[in-house]
Amino acid sequence: MGSVVTDRSSERVQLVRSIAGRGVTDARVLAAMRQVRREAFVPPDLAEFAYRDLALPIESEQTISQPYIVALMTQALELEPHDRVLEIGTGSGYAAAVLSHVASEVFTIERHAQLAATARERLTSHGIHNTQVKHGDGRLGWPDHAPYDAIVVTAAAEAVPERLGGQLAIGGRLVIPVGAPDEIHELVRIRRTGADDFEEETLEQVRFVPLLPGRTEIADDTTGLRSVRGVPAAIAANCEPVEDLESVDLDGFLQRIGSARLVLLGEASHGTSEFYRMRHRITRDLIERAGFQFVAVEADWPDAARIDAYVRGAADTREPVRSAFQRFPQWMWRNADVLDFVDWLRAHNQEQPAHQVSFHGLDLYSMHDSMQRVVDYLEGVDPELAESAKRRYGCLTPYESDPAAYGLASLKRGYPECEHDVVTVLRELCQGRDRYLTGQGEAFLDAEQNAVITRDAERYYRAMYYGGAESWNIRDRHMFSTLQALIAFHGPAAKAVVWAHNSHLGDARATALSSDGQINLGQLIREQYGGQSYHLGFGTDHGTVLAAAAWGQEPQVMKVQPGRQRSYEQLFHQVEQRAFLLPLRSGHVDPQLRLALEKERLERAIGVVYRPQSELASHYFGAVLPEQFDEYFWYDETTAVTALPGTTRGPADPRHPFHTLDT
Ligand code: SAH
Repeated sequence: MGSVVTDRSSERVQLVRSIAGRGVTDARVLAAMRQVRREAFVPPDLAEFAYRDLALPIESEQTISQPYIVALMTQALELEPHDRVLEIGTGSGYAAAVLSHVASEVFTIERHAQLAATARERLTSHGIHNTQVKHGDGRLGWPDHAPYDAIVVTAAAEAVPERLGGQLAIGGRLVIPVGAPDEIHELVRIRRTGADDFEEETLEQVRFVPLLPGRTEIADDTTGLRSVRGVPAAIAANCEPVEDLESVDLDGFLQRIGSARLVLLGEASHGTSEFYRMRHRITRDLIERAGFQFVAVEADWPDAARIDAYVRGAADTREPVRSAFQRFPQWMWRNADVLDFVDWLRAHNQEQPAHQVSFHGLDLYSMHDSMQRVVDYLEGVDPELAESAKRRYGCLTPYESDPAAYGLASLKRGYPECEHDVVTVLRELCQGRDRYLTGQGEAFLDAEQNAVITRDAERYYRAMYYGGAESWNIRDRHMFSTLQALIAFHGPAAKAVVWAHNSHLGDARATALSSDGQINLGQLIREQYGGQSYHLGFGTDHGTVLAAAAWGQEPQVMKVQPGRQRSYEQLFHQVEQRAFLLPLRSGHVDPQLRLALEKERLERAIGVVYRPQSELASHYFGAVLPEQFDEYFWYDETTAVTALPGTTRGPADPRHPFHTLDT
């Protein structure tokens, strides 16, 4: 018996009519829905259900989306006939087929090889030739064909994958369901309105299969904390309340850090006063009661050296403090709370001349300042080498006001013009070390470190243009090697306090960013120093923050939005106490609570730029808090730092083009 091909076109017309009745009005979308034979995209035994408005199971335990949702999402993309679209989650290929009728080109990515192959065949046999299917991880996008006028994700993400925003054209739209597996998801549309500007809106409540890989879900009620409401109560019972930042009792904290010799103090934004004040408070106790020897912060090395000259009495006026941190983002260190700490440290050092505590910078945004300092040092000890260093560094001089232009130029040339020169200066400086009178002292350390910064910054500005995690990783590896150089200098048992953003100090392996290949300082420290480091994360729900609306702009006091759904911020906001320390290490906390907190949630990071209008995409990422930190400091309502006056406002050093999560 020959098979009978059932004509389902009248069912299809009927379905499209009902979709129009539910509010999809875009005529081109409806026309596309009338053209694509959905029965060809479902398993043969389900063909009879193809025109019910239902999601249906397909191969590899996935689903073909509900037709109404496909129409809704396609409409939400606001496609013009000449637009190019990227779809994440090809599945059956049905949505791609619909898109192929509304856009000029469609690129679609599927993580199941088998599904990708089947979809490719189906599309071809449908006569669709403007669509390319790729097998791979869609969270990384498809950079080869970027930028796209529209990107649609047809699986639910816990947070918006960071890469996708950067692959949108200016004016482009990203439509994505956001939410945890097995929950209702929000269909969100993110519009790129400028190089660094995004706006987002929530369109609808939907349900999707998860964008993978996610993390293993542990439902709250398997932990014994029966309802979600039980978690804030358990936090309340396990935390140490902080009534007052200045007079808080830190005995428990000092006990918990045990024999740790690296204590890392984070922050959830670069512009929050309470975070600096709490770091000041804790650092005081670490210095006075636990013998910590130096403070290393996420700041440029030469600027921190100016502060160091002040706190250790090498300078007897405030001039070095006034002249430090002249470049954007000045307020990150040039603020009233940091000044309080610096004044305290100077007084401490005056009282304890035999146990002076030094202050250092870990960052690498000082290429030109650093080159100058290398040459200055060499002029005193080795004039011949100073001349050759000056010549070699001259390779980078044309880019003084815009180091990123060097990265772009080397990308265009296809080779790194100055790499050999900066590496050679460092090598020759190190070879000379034993000949210099100051070779074992701090002056040499300073020169060597500045030569290392120049080498690493040269690589950093090139990597900025490769995209991806590489430039971030170069920076965090640089911070780590600087910390190691400082430890070596102070002696192998040296004890240090580190101040940097949570995103540098928490263990990157506990965040979704690590699946992108991103590492950080906290991870490198854990890998190298094991239990000898103690990582304190900081968080807040709402209040004010000093931040810029875009890179290089003037800072302003902005309102911090309350924590998003499914975020740690929203969870901690429900705790009765307004400020507290919460130990997270096994053995320091109720195991049931730790288990409940191990469920991945969103976490917010505000850097020097804050974009409340696209907060979900710009500032949230997935994380597992107890794996990221050993302890968490919560301050529910926080206030902006006060910037100190008197900068001559140097230009901003550029960073990665899509850098709102760059802290
Ligand atoms: N657009 C599809 C809907 C498929 S369901 C259709 O019209 O049929 C979502 C699809 O996303 C599944 O096939 C799933 O395998 C795929 N997926 C999940 N995570 C992914 C990832 N990280 N990269 C690419 N595809 C993914």
